[in-house]
Amino acid sequence: MSASAPEPGTVPPILELREIRAGYGSIEVVHGVSLEVPTGSVVALLGPNGGGKTTLLNVCAGTLAPSGGEVRFEGNPVTSISADGRARRGICTVPEGRGVFPNLSVRENLLMATQVGVPMDWIEDVAFTQFPQLAVRRKQLAGTLSGGEQQMLALARAFATSPKLLLLDELSMGLAPIVVTQLYDKVRELAAGGLSILLVEQFARTALPIADFAAVVLQGVIAHRGSPAEMEEAVSASYLGG
Ligand code: ATP
Repeated sequence: MSASAPEPGTVPPILELREIRAGYGSIEVVHGVSLEVPTGSVVALLGPNGGGKTTLLNVCAGTLAPSGGEVRFEGNPVTSISADGRARRGICTVPEGRGVFPNLSVRENLLMATQVGVPMDWIEDVAFTQFPQLAVRRKQLAGTLSGGEQQMLALARAFATSPKLLLLDELSMGLAPIVVTQLYDKVRELAAGGLSILLVEQFARTALPIADFAAVVLQGVIAHRGSPAEMEEAVSASYLGG
């Protein structure tokens, strides 16, 4: 949770989705979703498998073109801007499944982040200060790290580019609960530093404590939205099919 997250509508949103429609081939799986991420806040997209959360995140990242609607970043339309172009503007994604290169070392994986124009010295400094556990493994192949360390590496690489907005997809996937807690503690710390975050998480109880706002995505629409406290009941109902 951010130190002092603004209420929606009180500051210009860093990210705005307007009536987004998206899908695969002729099948639409997101049906006109509008959502705002207020600058400096953490927004959690929750909901059971297959609701359309990852699809929405990919539309934000620019890796999936919507069939309708508009994506705005810092007040400007970015719908037709490539994922690479969005990364250069400050939108950084940690995709589902970690997205590290297993046959490259930790350091080489971090080197990838220089593609958005950030010097390696800076990246190493930020990544290893924030994630000291990785510093001792800098020469180790990423594929030989534990699942939690790989996720940490993906997070470190993203954070080291000094993004304005971090998109996190299912950080908890396939990890032991204690590791998930450690990772989310780190996300909470980054958020407290003022980073805007949009995260997708299937496990609502994991994400709600660090979120300022949450939305439950069900069958391609936002079924509920509100503060974490308001969401508790809605979340239970949605996951149990109520
Ligand atoms: P999950 O936690 O399973 O990823 P989700 O809420 O993120 O769930 P999406 O991954 O966005 O949901 O999937 C929404 C729908 O789109 C699902 O019915 C899924 O099967 C379908 N889908 C996702 N990716 C593809 C793809 N590449 N091609 C075709 N259909 C897809």
